[in-house]
Order: sequence, then structure tokens, then C-alpha cells
Amino acid sequence: MTVTTFSELELDENLLEALQDKGFTRPTAIQAAAIPPALDGRDILGSAPTGTGKTAAFALPVISKMLAAPKARAPKKVRALVLAPTRELAAQIDENIRAYCAQTELNTVLIFGGVNIRPQTEALLKGCDFLIATPGRLLDHAGQLNVDLSEVEFLILDEADRMLDMGFIHDIRRIVKLLPAKRQTLMFSATFSTEIRELADSYLNN
Ligand code: ADP
Ligand code: MG
Repeated sequence: MTVTTFSELELDENLLEALQDKGFTRPTAIQAAAIPPALDGRDILGSAPTGTGKTAAFALPVISKMLAAPKARAPKKVRALVLAPTRELAAQIDENIRAYCAQTELNTVLIFGGVNIRPQTEALLKGCDFLIATPGRLLDHAGQLNVDLSEVEFLILDEADRMLDMGFIHDIRRIVKLLPAKRQTLMFSATFSTEIRELADSYLNN
């Protein structure tokens, strides 16, 4: 089946409204390809050029699944962890997810390095549905026990190729060790390389 409208995808009604408000009329190719298997709980390795809507490709199914299985917010806990290589990308992802969640109770916390850690610590303490983070600062918070990643249900590695290029592989491996093995992992990259395939082989199993 070729998916040509968002309403053909089994997304939460609240999301369809948010997409209309954003002026999205139809899913892009990566969205049409990734959203149905992601809704089914499959792990995803998605590759598509920059500007093709990869953020919504991972955010929409994860939001839908969270809304379908509501969970009370708990101190320091996180339901979905999104790792991004730079503060600018993390901030863009946060802005997008907040727009998609506008009609819902879901919240986001955004953390990156180079700024005062304390407001981030306070935000983490309350717990969040989405934590969007750069790897180094997240490890700082984890080391200070400001965040508890033991109940993360969804791990998203965005711009995985850039994270590898920027030398974040060791940080990523340390972070993944803090997550439950039973989780859904979605990995996105603009390019495919041997390193990306190896990373996918080690983290994707469904
Ligand atoms: P990528 O991560 O693939 O580089 P983004 O997720 O940042 O791309 O999306 C690029 C732009 O396209 C954003 O401005 C986003 O709001 C817009 N966009 C995403 N999906 C759609 C869609 N289905 N219809 C219209 N615009 C879209
Ligand atoms: Mg992107």
C-alpha cells in the first residue's frame, strides 16, 4: 500500500490536528516508510537526505505510542531519549516535538553543554516524556544522578553519522549501558557507512 495521507497512518487524532496546524498535508517518503513499522514497535534504521522530515518520522510514532499507553510522570524518569550531535539540532528537535505535542499533556526537556547546568537539573528532576540531549552533557547529568534512564522506552539516535564523525561513539555506548535492554530503538542518518551499519547491528534487534 502506498501511503499518501497522514490519516492513513494510524496516528493519534491529536497529532493529525497538530500536523494540519503546521500545514503538513502528506507524509514524506521517509515518514511513509518509517511510521508504520515504528508504530508496530519495530526498531528502525532510517536514511534519507537532509530536509526530508526525519524528525517527524521518529517523533510522530513515538508520540502516538506514548499517548496509547499513558504513564504518570515520575521524578528523574524519561520515556523517550533523543540524542543529537549539536545544541542547534537538539533545540530544533525539541521545538518540533513541542509543536506536535501541543494538544497533549506530553512534555519535553532539552539539555546541551556550554550553559549553566542547574536549570537543566531542575527540569530533569520533574521527569519528562521526551529528553532531547547532546551526549556529553547528558553523561554529566547521569554522573550527578540528575536523571534516571532505567525506564527509557524509546531511544532515538538522530544524525547518527554526524555523532560518529564528531567522536561521540564512546559517549553513546556509555549512555546505552544506562538504558534497559528492552526498548525500541530508532536510528537516523543522512548517510550509510560501515560504522553506521555496525552501530545499527549492535543496537537494533527487531
Ligand atoms: P531532516 O531531519 O530530514 O533534515 P526535518 O525533520 O528537519 O528534516 O524537516 C525539514 C523541514 O520539513 C522542517 O521544516 C519540517 O517542519 C518540514 N516537514 C517535515 N515533514 C513534512 C511534511 N510531511 N510536510 C511538509 N513539511 C514537512
Ligand atoms: Mg534531522
